[in-house]
Amino acid sequence: MLLHDDRLFPADPVTRGIARRLYAGIRDLPIISPHGHTDPRWFAEDKAFPDPATLFVKPDHYIFRMLYSQGVRLEQLGITRKGGKPAKSDPRAIWKLFASHWHLFRGTPTRLWFEHAASSIFGVNERLTPANADAIYDVIAGKLEQPEFRPRALFERFNIEAISTTEGALDDLKWHDMIRASGWGGKVVTAYRPDSVVDPEFEGFAENLASLGELTGEDVFAWTGYLEAHRKRRAYFKERGATSSDHGHATARTANLSQAEAEKLFAKVVKGKASAEDADLFRGQMLTEMAKMSLDDGLVLQIHPGSFRNHNASLFEAFGRDMGADIPRQTDYVTALKPLLDAVGNEPNLTVIAFTLDETSYSRELAPLAGHYPALKLGPGWWFLDAPEAMLRFRELTTETAGFYNTVGFNDDTRAYLSIPARHDVARRCDCTYLAKLVAEHRLDEDEAAEIAHDLAYRLAKEAYKL
Ligand SMILES: [Zn+2]
Repeated sequence: MLLHDDRLFPADPVTRGIARRLYAGIRDLPIISPHGHTDPRWFAEDKAFPDPATLFVKPDHYIFRMLYSQGVRLEQLGITRKGGKPAKSDPRAIWKLFASHWHLFRGTPTRLWFEHAASSIFGVNERLTPANADAIYDVIAGKLEQPEFRPRALFERFNIEAISTTEGALDDLKWHDMIRASGWGGKVVTAYRPDSVVDPEFEGFAENLASLGELTGEDVFAWTGYLEAHRKRRAYFKERGATSSDHGHATARTANLSQAEAEKLFAKVVKGKASAEDADLFRGQMLTEMAKMSLDDGLVLQIHPGSFRNHNASLFEAFGRDMGADIPRQTDYVTALKPLLDAVGNEPNLTVIAFTLDETSYSRELAPLAGHYPALKLGPGWWFLDAPEAMLRFRELTTETAGFYNTVGFNDDTRAYLSIPARHDVARRCDCTYLAKLVAEHRLDEDEAAEIAHDLAYRLAKEAYKL
């Protein structure tokens, strides 16, 4: 059996008993997935997913960073070099290569997510090994052809009440239009992610800016026209259900320049004359501009800082971005967020959600900030901090100053669709484990813990993201 009923619960019987009872009360709540990277095309077309390798191995940077670290080359996983001829991609061979490296994932969240999906979705209840890799491949491949394993059927089976995808500012959102036009009742919304037209160091920034001008009919090479173009795109996204914007920046830096200073900086950016410092300052100014736009249109502002992207220069050269070579770095919030908070931090009707990849910032910076400013909330552990241990540390480090109600429930933040139920289940179990300890230590009554468990699993995400 792959999934033990008591997995992730405390080992001592008293706390375990409390955790079990709390979990029983929330296990079957619908999933709110307010931030993530599933492909809206899946829900629009509702076609069968391809083979198991394409579903589980190829799009998953958690998997290929680990395999790469142990000497597997990305071409062996069917990933094509930039401008190269398509890599050979025999899905069964890729699957077997994956199976022969499965031991690398012992103790990792990838192991938990994969086994949850294999067992609860496909009825596979044996640990993956090189010896059974073929048989498991056949079971999964066979099921993927059946109608009940299509994206929409799985959406209903996963009990997803609402899910947000994330699209770039220049996206036409045609898949979202197609979902709406289809009459299917699944709630799939988009989120506004303008990095490619906000970050002067983004690949193709100049062309992206030109496209933004064409799409909106605004003079995007002038500061006021550029801001107006964002307002128009945000409205376009909002019409397709968006309730949030999302910003992936290298740092959490924000700025609140005067109109004249902002115009001067923008002129440098437009001319391609921005230094690295100018670019960072401009990204920071745009976070504050976005927060001000949120005051008008109500979109929730998410900041995802602190990833050193494309750390491996030669891998980036050969394969491009998102190849598992992003590395967390130390991140400052206290100084960095101050200009934005000076501008809008006291607004009770604004929601800014800060995330981090630097957990030392939780108790020192983020929880105290979120535990003070009405506009600021604290996002859950993200990316490198989504293991059960990190989820428990998140609560331990933040509850003392931010409480539970300056946090926003769970985000799966994934493109791995089949891992969504597993990720939410892990978060629910970890929160119940944390709450059970507080109950066992007589710091909370069990009825309060049950209410908090419900809020963390469902209500806080639904309300913070207006879903
Ligand atoms: Zn994300």
